[in-house]
Amino acid sequence: MTDRYCVFGNPIGHSKSPLIHAAFARQTGEDISYSAILAPLDGFAASVHAFVAAGGRGANVTVPFKEQAWQLVSRRTARAELAGAVNTLVFGNAEIVGDNTDGAGLLLDIALNLRCPLLARRILLLGAGGAARGVSGPLLEARPAALVIANRTAARAHALAGHFAPLGAVTGCSFSELAGQSFDIVINATSASLGDALPPLPPGLFAAGSLAYEMMYGREDTPFLAFARAQGAAQLADGLGMLVEQAAEAFHVWRGVRPDVAPVLAMLRNSGA
Ligand code: NDP
Repeated sequence: MTDRYCVFGNPIGHSKSPLIHAAFARQTGEDISYSAILAPLDGFAASVHAFVAAGGRGANVTVPFKEQAWQLVSRRTARAELAGAVNTLVFGNAEIVGDNTDGAGLLLDIALNLRCPLLARRILLLGAGGAARGVSGPLLEARPAALVIANRTAARAHALAGHFAPLGAVTGCSFSELAGQSFDIVINATSASLGDALPPLPPGLFAAGSLAYEMMYGREDTPFLAFARAQGAAQLADGLGMLVEQAAEAFHVWRGVRPDVAPVLAMLRNSGA
């Protein structure tokens, strides 16, 4: 019998997850179906329980339900605990297990697809919201020389750095305090690009050979990527690779099989994602 999976979000019409998981299923021969479910803003838990009752085996969770999912589950993996958010649910044995594959997705994309090492590099993470929190632990576990978290509301950057301080060399600051510093990897985890805005960044952030990584994805250069290009960043990337890698990690959690990401990423790029 076909095993059922889905992604919960609101809105959800834009989600590429059904396309990605259908491609993984074809590639690996796993007998699964994967749909997108629009959960009401005040009805996430009810939607999850209805899907479980209908025989669902697992699910992904996207905006705005990742924190609610963290609350809902009966048990969390260590990386979900650390992230404070859950993007992957596993149903079985009368329990719901919550995992978070976003951080692993970002690291796999940077290290494998973009061939950019993280060990002993200086990393700047822009933003202190859910996405920044989700990737901070895995970034520190890659043992960079330093992780600096900069945010519009500096207090949130300080709080995040304080939370992750036991894991490695991490500090928080405002954007203006970045003046005079440079980094090997600069990751934009703000939602500024959604509004076509650029955080007020000082010049000189990009060290020779640096990678500029925009977590948002799309066909156009975002203001951050245009800024990085003009400032001499050597390599530019958007977050489509992270999206596909976090999906592959979830597929592996559910099925015990790791799909090959490269052809799926290429298919999405060719289809104009
Ligand atoms: P949140 O709403 O949790 O956080 C938003 C962050 O952006 C805050 O740090 C906020 O600062 C900052 N911000 C918002 N507007 C501006 C602005 N105009 N200038 C400077 N800073 C600003 O969002 P998320 O963390 O969930 O998402 C962030 C981004 O990451 C989104 O673009 C999302 O699409 C992307 N993402 C991509 C994924 C992928 O798989 N590729 C996965 C998850 C997220 P302040 O604290 O001051 O309000």
